[in-house]
Amino acid sequence: LSNAPTEVKELAQTFNMMLSRLSDAWEQQRQFVGNISHELRTPLTVVLGYLQSLLRRSNNLTDYQQEALETAASEADRTVRLLQDLLDLARADSGYAHYLLEPISLNDLVFEVAGMAEKFSSRLLQVQATKTVVAIVDRDRLRQVLINLIDNAVKYSEPNQPIDLILEGTDQQATIQVHDRGVGIPLQDQSRIFERFYRVDEARARSTGGHGLGLAIVKTLVEGMGGTISVRSKLGEGSVFVIGLPI
Ligand code: ADP
Repeated sequence: LSNAPTEVKELAQTFNMMLSRLSDAWEQQRQFVGNISHELRTPLTVVLGYLQSLLRRSNNLTDYQQEALETAASEADRTVRLLQDLLDLARADSGYAHYLLEPISLNDLVFEVAGMAEKFSSRLLQVQATKTVVAIVDRDRLRQVLINLIDNAVKYSEPNQPIDLILEGTDQQATIQVHDRGVGIPLQDQSRIFERFYRVDEARARSTGGHGLGLAIVKTLVEGMGGTISVRSKLGEGSVFVIGLPI
């Protein structure tokens, strides 16, 4: 720009200033959402704890009292989970610089997460990994990505259906597929499910209790590590989420 006319230089300066203000505003908003979520989550967790303990300990409740406590506990539980998701999203948005990227064996991580998920969900998790694959990732964040995807696979498929985790690697990238044999996702929704608060069918989705933030967190985390995420799915047959990671 050193030989550009003054007007062009001024325009470039204004543009840079606007960009820096925009990124400051974005950072403030991210921190605000993170702080609010944290502040609200703590007291609400206490409320939820008392409601659950009342439900457990009281054995002479009227029908009305029982229903009121159950509804209050279930709404408090949903809101605590929403706040946790917002907190996770604010953390995931913190940018590349805050990710702890290091070469790790994906085999170890995938087997570890599968074992844990199998215990918590009582589901059969089948791992397919024919060779050792090392990728440059943030271990905790990739663990969170896999847990979120497995959690969805469990939510949107029948209890007797297994879930497959397939690990592969080429010279260019590592891939992990999370494969379920569940309800599937309509074609017209497949490009939108990674948006914040997007849910395929409110009626179907509401009963599963989420807020449409899980996949937005997954996408932000995967892209924060320099990776990609995509989905292939067929209604009534199941879905495959494919994570691509740098090696
Ligand atoms: P939530 O599950 O909390 O609604 P997500 O962001 O995790 O939010 O998912 C967004 C939507 O994508 C869900 O509402 C659901 O309709 C659809 N979805 C996600 N994973 C699956 C899956 N494995 N099988 C079928 N539908 C899915």
